[in-house]
Amino acid sequence: MELQFYNTATRKKERFEPLDPQNVRVYTCGPTVYDYAHIGNGRTFSSFDLLFRLLRHVYGEAHVTYVRNITDIDDKIIDRAGERGVGIRDVTDVTTEGFKEDMKGFGLLEPTHEPRATDYLDGMIDMMQKLVDLGHAYEAEGHLLFDVKSDPSYGKFANRSLDDLIAGARVEVAPYKKDPVDFVLWKPSTGNQPGWPSPWGRGRPGWHTECSVMSEQLLGETFDIHAGGVDLIFPHHQNEIAQSTCVHHGAPMANFWLHAGFLEVEGEKMSKSLGNFYTVHDLLKQWPGEALRLAMFTSHYRQFMNFSEHGIRDAKILLDRWYRLTEPAGEVTKADVSEAVVEALADDLNTPKALAELHEIAGKVAKGEERPEVLKASAGLFGLLAQSAEEWFAFRPEGVEVDEARIAELIAARNAARKAKDFAKADAVRDELAAMGIAIKDGPEGTTWELMP
Ligand code: AMP
Ligand code: ZN
Repeated sequence: MELQFYNTATRKKERFEPLDPQNVRVYTCGPTVYDYAHIGNGRTFSSFDLLFRLLRHVYGEAHVTYVRNITDIDDKIIDRAGERGVGIRDVTDVTTEGFKEDMKGFGLLEPTHEPRATDYLDGMIDMMQKLVDLGHAYEAEGHLLFDVKSDPSYGKFANRSLDDLIAGARVEVAPYKKDPVDFVLWKPSTGNQPGWPSPWGRGRPGWHTECSVMSEQLLGETFDIHAGGVDLIFPHHQNEIAQSTCVHHGAPMANFWLHAGFLEVEGEKMSKSLGNFYTVHDLLKQWPGEALRLAMFTSHYRQFMNFSEHGIRDAKILLDRWYRLTEPAGEVTKADVSEAVVEALADDLNTPKALAELHEIAGKVAKGEERPEVLKASAGLFGLLAQSAEEWFAFRPEGVEVDEARIAELIAARNAARKAKDFAKADAVRDELAAMGIAIKDGPEGTTWELMP
C-alpha cells in the first residue's frame, strides 16, 4: 500500500516511507490545558487520530508509536491558577483529566504516550545547556534566548526570510534580545509564579522547548511525522526545528510535517465573545461522539472547515442509517475493510473521497449486493460504527426526557387500534408519538422506537 501525504516542509505531496516500518513514529502537538478543548482542537486531533488509525491498519497495531503531549505550563494556565488562588497543578490535573475524557467520548484512540511537559524539565534544561554550549543560545536578564542568526536555515521551513521575520517582530521587541526574532527558551519566574531552578535562575520553559524534548525522548532525534494545526507552522514548528536540528547536528527533526486547516463557525473565527464557541465537552452532551467526528471528516483535513450543528445532524442521520444496515452484522476482520476506502485515505487522508466510497458500500448493502460486515469494517477504520446498534440508539441528548412507559403504552394502543382496523386511531397515535419526538418502526420482532434526529 503506497501512502502519500502533503509535506509542509517541501510543499509537495510525497510518498511516505517510514524510517522503520516496525516502529512508525508520529508526534502531534497536544492541547494547552487551561480550559476545555474546543471543536477546532477537536478537528485537528481527530484528523491525526485518523492518521494514527490508518498507519496502524497499514503497518500493524503494534508498529506505530503516537505521541500527543499535554502542555501543562503556560501563561494562560498561570493566569487561570492566579484567578482561582490555586497552584497550576490544581488547574491542570483537572483540565488534563477532562481533556482525556472528552477525547474518549469523541471516540479518539488513546495515543501511545501523552507526556506532560512539566515531567520533562530536566531534559529541557539539558537541551538548553547544549544549545548554549554549541553557541546557539545566550542569556539575557534571566532569559535564555535562541540566537536565530546562529542557524543559517532559520525561516526556511516557514518559507519566510529573516528580513521579513525581523520586520514582523519589530512591534514587540524586548530590549534584551540581540535580534528581534530571537525566541525565548527559558524565562524568569517572579513572586509566586511557578518556577524551576536552572543555570539561568528560577524560571520556566518556553513552549517550543517542550515539544523538542518530549519528541526526542519518546521518538528519537529524527522521526517520521510531526503534525499540528496550520497556526503552528510559524513560529512554533519553525522554532522546534531550529532547536532540534541545532542540538542534533543538522539531523532533521521529522521527515513529514502535516498541518490541519482551521475550523471556523459560519465563516467567523470561533471566539467566546462572538458567542460561537463550542467545546467538545458541551457538544458531547447533545450529540454522540461518532456523529461529531463524522462531521469533521466531511471536509479534507488540510482545507479550512466551516462548522455548524446542521453538519452534525446530517452525520447523525447518516450514522442512524448505517447502524440499521449493519444490524445484524457478524464479526468483522481486517479482510473486510474495503480497499477503495483505504486507498482514498492513503492519498493524503482524502476523507471526502473515503466517505463517498462508504456511501457506495452502504447503497450496495441496502440492495443486498454487499455484506454488512464490509460497511462495518470500513467505517471501523475511522472509528465509526464502533458500538452495537442498541447502544447507538440508546443515546439521549442531555435534557431530553424520554418517558419510556408512556411510549410503550402508546405503541400498545396503536397496535390494538391496528388490530381492530381502526387506522385513523392508529395514525393519530403515531402522530402523538411524533410530536414527542419519537419515530416508530414496524419490524418482524414487533414495533420499535427511536428518538427522531
Ligand atoms: P492549543 O491548545 O491552542 O495549543 O491547540 C491545540 C491544537 O489545536 C493545535 O494543533 C492547534 O493548531 C489546533 N487548533 C487550535 N485552534 C484551532 C481551530 N480553530 N481549528 C483547527 N485547529 C485548531
Ligand atoms: Zn509542539
